[in-house]
Amino acid sequence: MGWRRVCVLEAERIGWGASGRNGGFVSPGYSAGYQTIARQVGRDDAKSLHRLSIEGAEAVAANLEALGVADAERTQGLLSTSRYEATDELTAHRDWLEREFD
Ligand SMILES: Cc1cc2nc3c(=O)[nH]c(=O)nc-3n(C[C@H](O)[C@H](O)[C@H](O)COP(=O)(O)OP(=O)(O)OC[C@H]3O[C@@H](n4cnc5c(N)ncnc54)[C@H](O)[C@@H]3O)c2cc1C
Repeated sequence: MGWRRVCVLEAERIGWGASGRNGGFVSPGYSAGYQTIARQVGRDDAKSLHRLSIEGAEAVAANLEALGVADAERTQGLLSTSRYEATDELTAHRDWLEREFD
């Protein structure tokens, strides 16, 4: 990876917006959820977007590795929990993710 000269245009200060406030969680998927996105762009494009989000998470992991960021301890997997009984829903979601995205 070579060095690049870049120009950052920022109205406030660097890290002002959401990027300076986020919790630091890196996982595939979007807050809107697959069904909402599929309604807007169709199932095929929604799947492509989900695959892109998987690539994004992998790119972050590769950067951490390449840059030797020792403090960024990676946790494998994603734990979904529910405050109400949703076993069937969570199981169906897990099965769908496995089927569609391996
Ligand atoms: C509380 C919180 C927690 C979050 N946690 C997570 C998380 O754990 N994991 C995750 O993946 N995502 C998280 N997100 C979402 C994620 O942070 C955002 O999706 C992401 O940072 C958006 O990046 P951005 O560059 O599009 O926008 P921003 O980081 O918001 O950058 C936009 C910048 O543009 C500047 N700007 C606006 N208008 C102009 C102008 N006219 N001229 C010059 N500059 C301008 C703004 O000042 C701002 O700094 C979180 C968001 C919030 C708010």
